[in-house]
Amino acid sequence: MQLSSLLTRFSEPETLKMAKLGRELRAKGIDITDLSLGEPDFDTPAHIKEAAKKAIDENYSHYTPVAGYLDLRQAVCTKLLRDNGLVYTPEQIVASTGAKQSIANAVLSIVDAGDEVIIPTPFWVTYSEIVKLAGGTVRLVNTSFANGYKITPAELENVITDKTRLFMFSSPCNPTGALYSKEELAALAEIFKKHPQVFIISDEIYEHINFTGQHQSIAQFDFLKEQVIIINGLSKAFAMTGWRLGYMAAPLAIAKACDKVQGQFTSAPNSIAQRAAITALTADLKPTEEMVAAFKNRREIVMQLVHKIPGLICSEPPGAFYIFPDVHVYFGKKTADGNVINDADELCMYFMNDAHVSTVSGKAFGEPNCIRISFANSIENIEKGMEKIKNALAALK
Ligand code: PMP
Repeated sequence: MQLSSLLTRFSEPETLKMAKLGRELRAKGIDITDLSLGEPDFDTPAHIKEAAKKAIDENYSHYTPVAGYLDLRQAVCTKLLRDNGLVYTPEQIVASTGAKQSIANAVLSIVDAGDEVIIPTPFWVTYSEIVKLAGGTVRLVNTSFANGYKITPAELENVITDKTRLFMFSSPCNPTGALYSKEELAALAEIFKKHPQVFIISDEIYEHINFTGQHQSIAQFDFLKEQVIIINGLSKAFAMTGWRLGYMAAPLAIAKACDKVQGQFTSAPNSIAQRAAITALTADLKPTEEMVAAFKNRREIVMQLVHKIPGLICSEPPGAFYIFPDVHVYFGKKTADGNVINDADELCMYFMNDAHVSTVSGKAFGEPNCIRISFANSIENIEKGMEKIKNALAALK
């Protein structure tokens, strides 16, 4: 069948591919332990669910403004001021079907064929693929374990050309959990200041999943206000992955452009999710804090378990809910069936098919020596999954 050439430009998300494979094996009765997905195992807090039920009863069943209800966008502004000390107006906010759509809207609004987009590795799998979908050229900058997987101002300056239009990063980072401090962001901001044609997508969806202190946004530097696009959403902090609600806070011209793009793709995000989001964003954050405390406890457990596995190099993530161990010492070893494990992709497939535990290869995140293991799962499943990984590695010769 002849399909569009667009489809050949990008690949499907490795994270979703592994989750799908896990589901298929589970449907065959195999006990798969899922450490692949970036999704809290908690239920959405009750007060948010109540707000959604009320919205259904009050007949919030019609098309909403493309960028979302005005009071939702006001709630986002209230949140940005309360949590981040940032001043935005509702005209600068566009709510979307997940942060993923917010990112796609922004990239499609900024990037033309041949434009360069800088992405420090390791990065969230979707960034590079959306850039390719838009026809842009991805410029990866490899960061190192020794540097806490963070790009330095010199590395950034080196890679900016007159074709650079966009820089994309997440802090806290998926997959490494790296957090940029205020000082580190300030140093990067000084470089961006010299290049006003470069926009910055600052993906802050793990803002609250921070185990070490106050979240810092690169939007805090007033001189960068016209360059920074903040991406955030409800999926992680409020255990609302399935509700599909994200948003951006952007310079007015970008927000207007994204409104235009979204108007053709989806018309607007779901009305009921929008009403629930108003409650989530403006209510007390206690349920979120409780979830973060649980993630912190799980982080300790998973770190103890990973350190018991010979050869894995892994530092404690300061944010998000993943560990990202370097597993390369196992490359070149053989399984009991005599198959050679050549790389992280093959190792993850071996874990899935032979040990029945799903993880994600670091290749898709731009770091082929590592794999990503999610600890957004129950302690029981983390222990079970890590035991499976340990035994599967011990069986390699
Ligand atoms: N950014 C990052 C860094 C993520 O990890 C994710 C979800 N895995 C998203 C954005 C997208 O989140 P949403 O569910 O809001 O589309």
